[in-house]
Amino acid sequence: MPLFHLRTFHGTFLTRRFQKNLQTRRFAAFMIDTHCHLYVDNFNEDLKEVAMRASDMGLTHILMPAISMASEEQMNATIMQWEGFKTGIHLHKMAGIHPCEWKPGDTLDFDDLAGRVSANDIVAVGETGLDAYWSTDAMDEQLVSLDAHLAIAKDVKKPVVLHNRETTTELLNEVERQQDGRLKGVWHYFTGSQDEAKRAIDLGLYLGIGGVFTFKKTDTREFVKALPIERLLLETDSPYLAPVPFRGKRNEPSYVAYTAQELADALEFSLASLVAQTTQNAISLFGLQEG
Ligand SMILES: [Zn+2]
Repeated sequence: MPLFHLRTFHGTFLTRRFQKNLQTRRFAAFMIDTHCHLYVDNFNEDLKEVAMRASDMGLTHILMPAISMASEEQMNATIMQWEGFKTGIHLHKMAGIHPCEWKPGDTLDFDDLAGRVSANDIVAVGETGLDAYWSTDAMDEQLVSLDAHLAIAKDVKKPVVLHNRETTTELLNEVERQQDGRLKGVWHYFTGSQDEAKRAIDLGLYLGIGGVFTFKKTDTREFVKALPIERLLLETDSPYLAPVPFRGKRNEPSYVAYTAQELADALEFSLASLVAQTTQNAISLFGLQEG
């Protein structure tokens, strides 16, 4: 059973509270980073060190959302390299097209996407969703893509991973329109209001809690206790949006522990039970093997 263990060199990376938790109580961690773009260039230089730190923190699974159809090749290369590190951490691939990839006039190859997504080694559909922050030029294309991803996810009985930026109502309306009891998935990097959280959960979604939860100004901390803990997942969204104390730096999978600690504090849970519960949630949504 993998246990948290503290290596001295690693101590500097840990917040004091987390360190204390680790020292006073060794426990089965089995942490899962449910959203990590491990295959992007930001990890080219030091993937092995990143893997070792993730292993030290007790991670067992890392889920990699796709950005485009080209992501799979990069994921395969990362997986090949990763296997050589012998960490025992399982990497999983998703297939999908990120909303920010769409340009006006682009068309979606539905059959190609459906084919990729239905492959046995694809654990989820995504990331898809809507994004009105960077550009609204291709909102129609984003919507067509989102609808296709949702329909395919239902067909292949895999969870969908949803990105949302300044598009909450539109996104949840689409989910509602397509929810016929077969749709399951996660609103990744949730930063919405309590009402939005409730609506998403009622629609069958999980909420991904990432590094922004550790920032001083986060509303989610105020109402997270009111949410069903069975619907919360931990994620990093590496290499983006690192938690405190790494805010502004490159994010990496081991940092999921800092968000876990912050979430445990907000919920007044022990770190061990928070980790156990969120890991169970991820296993059940994504159909992963335990350990
Ligand atoms: Zn992402």
